[in-house]
Amino acid sequence: MLVRLPKTVSEAREYLTEGAVPIGGATLVWATWQSDGFPEQAMSLRELPQANVIGPEELGGAVVLSRIDDRMPYVLHAAAKAVGTGAVRRAATVGGNLAGSALRCLLPAALVLEARATVLAPHGVYETDLAEVTAKRPLLLSLRWRAPVASAYRKLQGEASGEPPLVVATALHTDTGGRHRLRAAVRHGYDVLTATTTFGPDAAHPLDELRETSAADAPGAWDLITEQVTALLASARDD
Ligand SMILES: Cc1cc2nc3c(=O)[nH]c(=O)nc-3n(C[C@H](O)[C@H](O)[C@H](O)COP(=O)(O)OP(=O)(O)OC[C@H]3O[C@@H](n4cnc5c(N)ncnc54)[C@H](O)[C@@H]3O)c2cc1C
Repeated sequence: MLVRLPKTVSEAREYLTEGAVPIGGATLVWATWQSDGFPEQAMSLRELPQANVIGPEELGGAVVLSRIDDRMPYVLHAAAKAVGTGAVRRAATVGGNLAGSALRCLLPAALVLEARATVLAPHGVYETDLAEVTAKRPLLLSLRWRAPVASAYRKLQGEASGEPPLVVATALHTDTGGRHRLRAAVRHGYDVLTATTTFGPDAAHPLDELRETSAADAPGAWDLITEQVTALLASARDD
């Protein structure tokens, strides 16, 4: 297997056109390749600057999970810390988690941040949403979002049944005119459900609309959403 390490986007595009398979930390693909056979070419983005950005409003697809820290919104930092073991987090990448893993602990966090993805296809670079990233799994270069006012994340302990544990992520954004927008994402089983509500600064019951959504119906989710949103609103009032 030839491992390509592009340093520019045009090199990455060339290798993609040649059929190179994306590889992150190989924490998932290695075992499969050992049993089913290795591809002719793989491509790691670890030397591509555009895939290694880290900041309050951007994160590269080749960044390993252990490098996600408090430079980023709380929700992403907490989500990354909750993945697997230290050894997994030191090798696994953002692209591998969102495009390759079934659990995708980063996905609820990215969804409440309303992140947009920059991806590379044989015809060039384009921006898309997370739904396309998870469904079609294009080569993920980076994620971008607008920093929220505040955010929260909670992953429950794994269950004996082997079902993925419940994850609840929330973020509070401010719209123009002082209106707020609350985003919630709930991982229930392998599905991630989202809900959004907007409200003015004097809204009496900002949570009412969220209560009516299917995200709130996932067992155990509503209590966590209420707890997180109450804290987010309090922290926004204190600022
Ligand atoms: C012991 C263990 C515990 C784990 N626990 C959790 C957990 O609690 N929560 C959780 O969410 N995950 C968990 N995982 C999964 C872990 O997050 C994945 O192993 C990891 O995210 C895959 O990342 P990787 O960079 O190693 O991907 P790789 O194994 O290199 O690739 C996986 C897939 O993603 C594709 N891919 C890689 N990079 C990109 C890219 N930039 N763009 C598009 N596609 C790409 C590859 O082509 C491949 O199909 C666990 C894994 C292990 C081994």
